Amino acid sequence: MTIIDGKAYAAEVEQELRARVEKLKEETGRTPVLATVLVGDNPASVTYVRMKGNACARVGMTSLKVELPQDTTTHQLLDKIESLNSDPSVCGILLQHPVPRHIDEQACFNAISLEKDVDGVNTSGFGRMAMGLPAFKSATPLAIMSLLKRYNIAVEGKEAVVIGRSAILGKPVAALLLNQNATVTVAHSKTVNLPEIVRRADIVVAAVGKPRFVQGDWIKEGAVLMDAGYNKGNIGDMDLEACIPHCSAYTPVPGGVGPVTIAMLMKQTVEAAEALFRSRPPQA
Ligand code: NAP
Repeated sequence: MTIIDGKAYAAEVEQELRARVEKLKEETGRTPVLATVLVGDNPASVTYVRMKGNACARVGMTSLKVELPQDTTTHQLLDKIESLNSDPSVCGILLQHPVPRHIDEQACFNAISLEKDVDGVNTSGFGRMAMGLPAFKSATPLAIMSLLKRYNIAVEGKEAVVIGRSAILGKPVAALLLNQNATVTVAHSKTVNLPEIVRRADIVVAAVGKPRFVQGDWIKEGAVLMDAGYNKGNIGDMDLEACIPHCSAYTPVPGGVGPVTIAMLMKQTVEAAEALFRSRPPQA
């Protein structure tokens, strides 16, 4: 039985990114900048933004922290995103989810230019990703797919069951699995007979947002478990203790999907910087 060690893989990715950032600095004299936009002071969001800033520092990039008050309007946030889009020093833009409820979050996500949408939240980027065209991908789905690849876990021809259909997680990971020729079922809160559906799965992706939701007796012998869940107290969306005896591989929580999600955000920021710096050298 394999423990899919996300922490170790994230460290490998960061090491590779450090070298790429260094090379980019030598070639262009410029340091990639990731703008992190935080609206309000939701404590979990503050922590996530801080973790992303720390990751930027680890790979040698700069994080530009944009902090806006809770009562920011959609219009004001759109203006801010527009100014970051047109700022040549900014390579990537991360708008921390969720924004306060009065803001039209998807309109703001869609305002992020595709070349800077390093967190893969723009609807057009989603369409390109689903069609198998080049696009930045939502970071957690990309983390899940990268871990499967890193651990040589075959996807083609496998039955995959994704529990959850959010725009940032369930839907895009289902599309990515489908593009790699898995047979994909997407379950959600209206799904009937969920345990029976999960019992068919060679690969289970849990993206429910409910602690220890997936039960041990739902798991087919030898299944691969990708737990994207992150609930209070470092608890995933699977009852891992009960599921582990049945599986062939699993992502622990913490230390599984989470650290790789941040590493994928860094990776896509470096890719954005490479494309932007090499195609648009600064004017002398
Ligand atoms: P979300 O937007 O709340 O979506 C949850 C999904 O689960 C919805 O599609 C919902 O169905 C479905 N669901 C809820 N109750 C269900 C039930 N009883 N049976 C089957 N499906 C059910 O959550 P999210 O943003 O996708 O996040 C999911 C989890 O991933 C959370 O634990 C979150 O903390 C974690 N997460 C982790 C990272 C990371 O970096 N590791 C990043 C993002 C999220 P309906 O659509 O029908 O409502």
